[in-house]
Amino acid sequence: MPGTNLTREEARTRAALLHVESYDIELDLGSAPEGGTFRSTTVVRFSATTPGAATFIDLVAPSVSEIVLNGEALDLAAFADSRIALPAVQAENELRVVADCAYTNTGEGLHRFVDPVDGETYLYTQFEVPDARRVFAAFEQPDLKATFRFTVAAPAGWVVVSNSPTPEPAGEGATRTWAFEPTPRMSTYVTALVAGPYVGVFDEYAAGDQRVPLGVYCRPSLREFLDAEAIFEVTKQGFDYFQEKFDFAYPFAKYDQLFVPEFNAGAMENAGAVTLRDQYVFRSKVTDASYEMRAATILHELAHMWFGDLVTMEWWNDLWLNESFATFAEAVCQAEAPGSKWPNSWTTFANQMKTWAYRQDQLPSTHPIMAEINDLEDVQVNFDGITYAKGASVLKQLVAYVGQDAFFKGVQAYFKRHAWGNTTLPDLLGALEEASGRDLRTWSKAWLETAGINLLRPELHINTDGDIESFAILQEAPALPAGARGEAVLRPHRIAIGLYDLVDDTLVRTDRIELDVDGPRTEVPELVGRHRPAVLLLNDDDLSYAKVRLDEDSLAVVTEHLGDFTDSLPRALCWASAWDMTRDGELATRDYLSLALSGLQRESDIGVVQSVQRQVKLALEMYADPAWREEGLQRWAAAAEERLRAAAPGSDHQLAWARALAAAARTDAQLGLLADLLDGSETIEGLAVDTELRWSLLARLVATGRADDKAVDEELVRDNTSSGQEHAASCRAARPTAGAKAEAWASVVESDKLTNYVQEAVIGGFQQADQRALIAPYREKYFAAVKGVWESRSHEISQQIIVGLFPAYQVEQATLDATDAWLASADPAPALRRQVVESRAGIERALKAQAADRAAGERRA
Ligand SMILES: [Zn+2]
Repeated sequence: MPGTNLTREEARTRAALLHVESYDIELDLGSAPEGGTFRSTTVVRFSATTPGAATFIDLVAPSVSEIVLNGEALDLAAFADSRIALPAVQAENELRVVADCAYTNTGEGLHRFVDPVDGETYLYTQFEVPDARRVFAAFEQPDLKATFRFTVAAPAGWVVVSNSPTPEPAGEGATRTWAFEPTPRMSTYVTALVAGPYVGVFDEYAAGDQRVPLGVYCRPSLREFLDAEAIFEVTKQGFDYFQEKFDFAYPFAKYDQLFVPEFNAGAMENAGAVTLRDQYVFRSKVTDASYEMRAATILHELAHMWFGDLVTMEWWNDLWLNESFATFAEAVCQAEAPGSKWPNSWTTFANQMKTWAYRQDQLPSTHPIMAEINDLEDVQVNFDGITYAKGASVLKQLVAYVGQDAFFKGVQAYFKRHAWGNTTLPDLLGALEEASGRDLRTWSKAWLETAGINLLRPELHINTDGDIESFAILQEAPALPAGARGEAVLRPHRIAIGLYDLVDDTLVRTDRIELDVDGPRTEVPELVGRHRPAVLLLNDDDLSYAKVRLDEDSLAVVTEHLGDFTDSLPRALCWASAWDMTRDGELATRDYLSLALSGLQRESDIGVVQSVQRQVKLALEMYADPAWREEGLQRWAAAAEERLRAAAPGSDHQLAWARALAAAARTDAQLGLLADLLDGSETIEGLAVDTELRWSLLARLVATGRADDKAVDEELVRDNTSSGQEHAASCRAARPTAGAKAEAWASVVESDKLTNYVQEAVIGGFQQADQRALIAPYREKYFAAVKGVWESRSHEISQQIIVGLFPAYQVEQATLDATDAWLASADPAPALRRQVVESRAGIERALKAQAADRAAGERRA
């Protein structure tokens, strides 16, 4: 019983048998009523290498009314288990399938959403990984490309957007028909349809004779917040940069970007019709870090038009390459494109991508970048920090290794050679070898086929005059958790060592040494005989992918002066190192708090500030010794209030500290301040208490029992939007009562009525670090329910529940025991097991870090 799965072997067999020419897809959306279905008629033309062979086409639908293969009607029983069996294909085939397909509320397939502001219905598709089959009958695997011609019947007055340019609709009365031109050859997972009374803003990319129509869409209720100009500006910078670097004109007829509701991911690279989460249309003030992240997402999806859509991985085992390339491309474009507003993108990369990768790479589920992807279940849990962030980090190293010019020369040859086709990793490596003259087999083996992170430590001896007598870099093999896949190896690293000294209260780089590190110990003779600088920073400029440690003296300077580095990148690297040491129990949480409070005083990069704020909160809630935790939380909340009041009026820092205080407030006075800011009886100069900030303030008041249901209802009247409804649901789940917790739990676990976004909000409200005792009884309920959830809910929904409701705040041996007992008895499927095992690792790590923090406290007592 394949269920909705598909194995790589099945895909391979089918690809060897079939060549797919075209799909003609007619969708009758009617008025898209709630709980309704839509008629989907698919005509596929394809040839087969072995006439008489049996195969199948994929379809997930409530019912099928017609299956006609080469003029002969098949028994409808051929449709079973998410597939239609095709008993004997001919050399040339035409298959017609008529089905009634279902709208979803999970963000998978054809998602249906009603905007409470105007009562109108908004639809969009999300097909990656295997969900085109929820909308039409499809050979659902990336290497069976074809052309797609969509014909869509929908209400008059709607906007309908797909991969091809939107035609004039035909017909009269209440319904119109949009007959799109066929697309170029592409994979099923990048086809798309967006339909509803969306509003669009239009522009054009022009270069020489080239004209590419550009569109940006959102719901009318968000139109007043849509800064289309800023979005077009970044988009055009990306067009300029990528077309030049790739030496390949944008391959599709137009480029639309559609901000859609309740979108699970950041965005999706549908060919010429990119969908993005509509939180990227900012309803309230956000910091520049949010604009930077949105720009990065825009560039990421644009890069996919070439790498992913024009040239596509053969199978999902190369998903990492697809995502790593786009992630690297977004950063390098932001760093280098003329006019870019975020030239410090490598700081953000170090701060976010590297942190994500290091975290993921230390989980028991870690795996080589080149992962075995045996089936669709494997790939669906593999959209992880290895695939996106470690892959991109290693790609950055590869670029350093072959040189950026050679890298792009190889990429250019790759696009020309494989346009509209499918590839595997060796196709890219081959093109890079040709362009660079380097043998990449050893590199690929060391970096792509092994798991884990190397640790680099300095080993130095200083004489009594303060001069360096010897300096070496020690490399440790990754500490792979038990059961992890892949080999723990030492790797070749190209790194830089930065030498920093204190000059007029700033830490300035006085020298930089670049070298190859290989093997367990690498001597650095260049440093011998020199006076010891204030800070010796390994992996300066973040060239390699490795954990680094500071020597004791450097750490002491950094602890006091982290904010005094003049450049943002070394600061980000030191922040990352301190965080990593905290997670590893090498730096006590109380010491990390001190370091953060001092360093944040002078940290100017707002993205880094916000990351550190999140990390401090996490450390205090998870890694602090429970006996000291309250003291730490109080210190943090007091600091947040002080920084909020001291911040420049209207600044991003002011907003970031306001949000931090809203999350951290504990004392009567602090909670009173939140209430006063909310009702306007106190104001802070320059701080706009706007829609989103109001919800943050209220959420904390509700969770601490300072505001009730009525306050939530009133807030919802002020903001009766879909976002408002999500916030309200989250607030209700955060109430500190057993009844509220039971209600929240039932709505998520015992019902499938919540949409993906409301469910996420309820889970977020349910899990409160300050309500440990109240939610403790749900540990047992979690393990009783989790397997049923996995088996009965869609992938996105079950992942939210499995990860989100794990008893993560019950940091104690009993949680490990309960997990182990469940693992032993439930015999979970590999993808389910992986998610639970990752959560278990969080408890193990927290116990270790708490012990380290306790020991530090005892030493000082
Ligand atoms: Zn991507």
